[in-house]
Amino acid sequence: MPHRKDSDSRKLLRRLRDTLGSAGGSQDRLDSITHDIADSMGTQVCSIYLFRDGDTLELCATEGLKPESVHKIRLRLGEGLVGRVARTGRNINTANAPAEPGFRFMPETGEEIFPSFLGVPIQRVGEKLGVLVVQSREARLFSEDDIYGLEVVAMVLAEMTELGAFQGSQTDALPLEHRFPVLFRGATGQEGSAEGRVWLHEPRVVIANPVGDDPETESARLNDGIEKLRERVDKLLAETEAEADSDHVQVLEAYRLFAHSRSWLARMEEDIRRGLSAEAAVEKEQSLARARLERAADPYLRDRLHDLDDLSNRLLRILTGQGNDTGAELPENPVLIARNIGPAELLDYGRRLKGVVLEEGSVGSHAAIVARALAIPLVIHAARITSEALNGDPILVDGDQGVVHLRPEDTVAAAFRDKMAMQAEAQGRYASLRNLPATGICGTTIHLYMNAGLMADLPSLENSGAEGVGLFRTELQFLTRSKVPRRAELAAIYAHVLDSAKGKIVMFRTLDIGSDKVLPYMKPQDEPNPAMGWRAIRVGLDKRGVLRMQLQALIRAAVGRPLYVMFPFIADITEYEAAYKILMEELAREKRLGHAMPSDIRVGAMLETPSMVYAPKRFYEMCDFISIGGNDLKQFFFAADRENERVRRRYDTMNTSFLNFIEQIVQRCDDARVALSFCGEDAGRPVEALTFAALGVRRLSMRPASIGPVKHLIRQVSIADLKSVIDDARNAGQTNLRRTVTEWLARQ
Ligand code: PEP
Ligand code: MG
Repeated sequence: MPHRKDSDSRKLLRRLRDTLGSAGGSQDRLDSITHDIADSMGTQVCSIYLFRDGDTLELCATEGLKPESVHKIRLRLGEGLVGRVARTGRNINTANAPAEPGFRFMPETGEEIFPSFLGVPIQRVGEKLGVLVVQSREARLFSEDDIYGLEVVAMVLAEMTELGAFQGSQTDALPLEHRFPVLFRGATGQEGSAEGRVWLHEPRVVIANPVGDDPETESARLNDGIEKLRERVDKLLAETEAEADSDHVQVLEAYRLFAHSRSWLARMEEDIRRGLSAEAAVEKEQSLARARLERAADPYLRDRLHDLDDLSNRLLRILTGQGNDTGAELPENPVLIARNIGPAELLDYGRRLKGVVLEEGSVGSHAAIVARALAIPLVIHAARITSEALNGDPILVDGDQGVVHLRPEDTVAAAFRDKMAMQAEAQGRYASLRNLPATGICGTTIHLYMNAGLMADLPSLENSGAEGVGLFRTELQFLTRSKVPRRAELAAIYAHVLDSAKGKIVMFRTLDIGSDKVLPYMKPQDEPNPAMGWRAIRVGLDKRGVLRMQLQALIRAAVGRPLYVMFPFIADITEYEAAYKILMEELAREKRLGHAMPSDIRVGAMLETPSMVYAPKRFYEMCDFISIGGNDLKQFFFAADRENERVRRRYDTMNTSFLNFIEQIVQRCDDARVALSFCGEDAGRPVEALTFAALGVRRLSMRPASIGPVKHLIRQVSIADLKSVIDDARNAGQTNLRRTVTEWLARQ
């Protein structure tokens, strides 16, 4: 095989570009491309396989195999060597193809057995489009140089595919790129359903010309672009350092390192020498980094690959002049698609969004907290959706199942609409219950409160029929700012919350940061196990300035109204005593300073660690109220990380041991005559909510949207009867009560 020179590669790419610009139909273009590649590489065979749908590859053009097999041969993902290249995203280079695992001989191609096989994926920034194969009679390994050359060609093919160069009705040759329906299975971030149109948070960069005419010009463009990139990163870094925003500084330092990386630049220059344009070179390296990202398990490496990915995007935008602001208008019923999004950005979109779908994110991420506060259905972990979705595509978001239908078939859309109509009808039914109590037919009343964390939540207080706010998470005002908010600013927000509550109670939980909720301006602690690390009241007691400032703001906001303060994550009585003492000191200080006092002050604790179930009686007696933070309590009871999808679902809240544990808390609170509520996510799930009620929990605090369904259910059943059903099941030795309770409910 002849040694390929840079100039060969450039010649070939130019031929490909001419083909792209030619008047022929898409099949003609493909045929001429395979011919040109085989000719340039000196191989007997060159074939292009493209995805027909998500997991079928189709032979779309060939030089050297039987022409009749084109559009007849189909392979499933992972099938044969071609399918393996497609599945793994890795090249296969072999001098003895039949000996490779998975080799499949396809006589229908007229294929004699070609021992040499080189297959490279055709992919565009992590999106798999197909496989490019060359085969040769001569049994030898392709050189590094050949592989590199073929990768560059595959890159150009990917760009051409993206530009629609191979689509055409007369051939019906190809999968219609970004046209067929795709189903994404992710995880639930926030329940609810939405139908709308895709809005990409960061629109894709379109590379109009992947082939460079003159390597020197392209290299100068690349160097110019890199220079601008470095200046921007330096400027950002200087601004961020001035804000003492150490977390961002760290990220930007990593960006700067990459922006100055010689090996990154050297690789892109090599791509340019081979004939790529500057932007195509950036994208080729970005694609490789994405492929590595998918394989990397090490979190540090993943973070760095992410940094490189972000930096490549910035560089692409500089080179192509395509910014975030494309001038496109937000479609009607926008569904936001992003790899990830910060809480402040999500708040900027606000309630205009019908749904949010993220490739990353976690149940407790800031974005999820905001989506929940805005009651927008959210699906997380929808792998690769940003590469597949195009602005304006129709999309269905099923937040209940964690599923997304992109460009759905009509039948799927119709079924989905039916489901949404049923949900809307149910919501209408719940609205009529707004002013009625959640009293069971046995006469027991359960008091329903809502969880909140944003001003935007407050209108739900009236609409949902909640008796008050059972948990106001104060972190969000801290999370959505780039600096610690000032006392006066916080006091104004809290006062506004109390004004909007119009006399209904609001239980303010002091700052619960750390764990999954890391403030942008807080130094990352790099803890091996942040959920059990320096968080919530532990931070509050160590950094008393912030806790005191927050308490002062709360006291000043309450003037003449009752103030409920709840301390999070108390794991030992001394922590509660210390926090209580600080609150009393602040009250005394504010009084001394002549500020008007709250009319009444109630102090409570979140019960989130098993230790407090066994706390001294004094703890219960000191609390005016206790609220079970079931999300954390459950994670510590079962030792199962609430953020880890793999273990999170293994342990059911309806597990008898956990329910017995909850009952013990009820008992301890009853003994000390202290009011108890449950404010974790489970409080809003009908089966769980009823069960807690049967076990003696009389106050439940949940998302506003859950209040209607829970109230509706409570009003139809006898909580006392359910208690006997539960007792019987426990006595009979049942280890999980979900089925028993669900079946009993169905009979009601
Ligand atoms: C909980 O842990 O159940 C809780 C309500 O607190 P958060 O979800 O904010 O940790
Ligand atoms: Mg908690």
